Amino acid sequence: MSQQFVFSGMGSVAMHTATHNNAEFSHITPIYATSTFVFDTAEQGMERFASKDKENIYSRWGNPTFKVAEETIAALEAFNIFNPDGSPLQLKALLHASGQAAMSTLFLGLLKQGDAVLSHYSLYGGTYEIMHKVLADAGITTIIVDMRNPPEVATAIAAHPNIKLVHIETPANPTIQCVDIEAITQIAKQHQLLVSVDNTFASPYLQQPFQYPVDFVFHSTTKFLNGHGSAIGGVLIGRDIELMKTKLWKWHALLGGNANPFDAYLLIQGIKTLEIRMQRHCENAMQVALYLQQHPAIEQVHYTGLTTHPDYEIAKKQMRHPGSMLSFELKGGIEAGKKFINQLQMCVRAVSLGTVDTLVSHPASMTHMSVPKEERLKFGITDGLIRMSVGIENIADIMADLQQALA
Ligand SMILES: *Cc1c(COP(=O)(O)O)cnc(C)c1O
Repeated sequence: MSQQFVFSGMGSVAMHTATHNNAEFSHITPIYATSTFVFDTAEQGMERFASKDKENIYSRWGNPTFKVAEETIAALEAFNIFNPDGSPLQLKALLHASGQAAMSTLFLGLLKQGDAVLSHYSLYGGTYEIMHKVLADAGITTIIVDMRNPPEVATAIAAHPNIKLVHIETPANPTIQCVDIEAITQIAKQHQLLVSVDNTFASPYLQQPFQYPVDFVFHSTTKFLNGHGSAIGGVLIGRDIELMKTKLWKWHALLGGNANPFDAYLLIQGIKTLEIRMQRHCENAMQVALYLQQHPAIEQVHYTGLTTHPDYEIAKKQMRHPGSMLSFELKGGIEAGKKFINQLQMCVRAVSLGTVDTLVSHPASMTHMSVPKEERLKFGITDGLIRMSVGIENIADIMADLQQALA
């Protein structure tokens, strides 16, 4: 990094922060498709093993292509955030094969038998299952409260002295509920608890949890960071650099959830356009939400940019823009949901989110089909609920598709 001025926005940070050791003058970060790295001498090998960074030894431990993605994501999450002494915030990121792998490092690296994690309703399915299957089998308890009501958090912490970690996901699936990161972190820190935030739905462009005393931020890079739906990936970012380089680096290497160089390369290419993509995603989503809100076939729209959403104020406080994720309820129940989905001519029928094209899913007949109806309804997943990840196509075409599918 050679420039002497401070970058004014995430667009430049995403392209120009991280550099690779460029022996061949390559413009683009190469795909270092290598399992191992050579030592010129025994002494050089010793030196690399002895160093804290453990760079260029073995790709399960780290790889130059991963490093560019890690440094870029850490810089985006830290952008424009300063320590109390005025120095810029430094963060350390570890790239993983998937969001689930990064989450395994987070939970298994921080919690042991007898500990508990405190979280809330309406979590990503994979997170909920790690907690209730993997952690439960390891003797780690999950306590679920409604974090949109902060006093419930204080009560749970007082009742369960074994809580070590508070895990927040905001905005959360599929009704786009938001949790007040500042309020919950403040309560957690009064009890010296660790706090992690799943920032996947927002991306660092829309929300930077490290502006509060949060310890860890998690992303499924599969979503907005990659942005093109071309690779699965996950990242864990931490404020305590020493902890990230020692215990959590060790757990990530031992659990074997390392990324691969080709997926890391795709991620690096995707991140370069994060800012401009997010701007267009958000512009389009706002227009879609306003259109759906007045449509006679629709019962309710869940979008935090609408003043009718119960978390409108929280989203406004902690997010740069309400984002591109929304859901809505069709009046005709499950049949109306299926019919709408089948009528779409351009928007893509698929689960996942955060890709350049608009993705539409129907939780009752897809992701949550195996969840008993009463359980689903508790999480706000009604029969006619449709989830949309609004893409960056030309807005008139998204509107035309919705209009004909709702007719
Ligand atoms: C997709 C997702 C995950 C899991 O990430 P994978 O990359 O699929 O392993 C976790 N949290 C949220 C909010 C997600 O959307």
